[in-house]
Amino acid sequence: MPICKSCEDEVDELVSVKAGGRRVKVCEDCAERLAEEAEIAEMSESAIQDMMGYKGRR
Ligand SMILES: [Zn+2]
Repeated sequence: MPICKSCEDEVDELVSVKAGGRRVKVCEDCAERLAEEAEIAEMSESAIQDMMGYKGRR
């Protein structure tokens, strides 16, 4: 049985997701969670840049 790299549970199937620029094989639950976290991280990154006056620096 494959083991999820995130929650370390044995699962039937692993899906490959991008997390922090790397590809990891995780279960579907973690894949969903990682996708959400990546989205939030991206949003908060730009929010922080806005707050710090880094507008237009990208
Ligand atoms: Zn998992």
